[in-house]
Amino acid sequence: MSSVDLYNEIVQLTRELVRRSAHPRRKTLMLSPEVAAFVTAPATPREDDTEALASLAREVAACTKCDLCTTRTQTVFSDGNPYADLVFVGEAPGADEDRIGRPFVGRAGQLLTDIIVKGMKMRRQDVYICNVLKCRPPENRDPLPEEKRLCEPYLIRQLELVRPKVICALGAHAATTLLQTDLSTGRLRGHWHSYYGIPLRVTYHPSYLLRKPEEKKKAWEDIQHVMRFLTGEEKAERSSASLSVPGGTLA
Ligand code: SF4
Repeated sequence: MSSVDLYNEIVQLTRELVRRSAHPRRKTLMLSPEVAAFVTAPATPREDDTEALASLAREVAACTKCDLCTTRTQTVFSDGNPYADLVFVGEAPGADEDRIGRPFVGRAGQLLTDIIVKGMKMRRQDVYICNVLKCRPPENRDPLPEEKRLCEPYLIRQLELVRPKVICALGAHAATTLLQTDLSTGRLRGHWHSYYGIPLRVTYHPSYLLRKPEEKKKAWEDIQHVMRFLTGEEKAERSSASLSVPGGTLA
């Protein structure tokens, strides 16, 4: 049985369970919003999404929308589990990523892996990792606004297909692109935000933490919020200082 068939069967069984448990006269049952959404949502053809992601990766590999296509060795699309609950979004590939074709494989990548494995007690392959830009800026310079504008549609489609429960934006370029703001990472971290309905937490980029190890404590606080959200111990309640990207929820 394929994973899609198994998922569909679970949804059908859950619906039947809800139907049988409903009030015999009123035919109603009190459900939490999460469970109600689950049993009323159409079965999700996740394998189709995997193919759509592969197709998007091929589209990105052929992209020539900005000048970075002339200096890249290869595009860097993603790493990890496309069914992941947690997505890390970084800035752009560096030299190692450009050479190998995977995001976060250099020194900063090793620090991110340590955060995931040693800190979060997860496997790197349990999360999904990608960047705002899919091509390396020369000499690792900051992404230009025009490059981010041209590349962001790929990221939006990527996140639509992965549909994580939570996003962790790593550093200023990821945070400001996703949240459409000019606020600093220091101002954005410490609150829950929303990216098209997906809870989002901002923390420092691992490259920054390598330069400023004294900030690791703050980054670990951010990661702990993400962990508590994933285990259900914390709700992603937005404070008045947090932002929300308009545009409704991801379908
Ligand atoms: S950075 Fe993005 S928009 Fe620019 S060439 Fe690469 S994939 Fe295309």
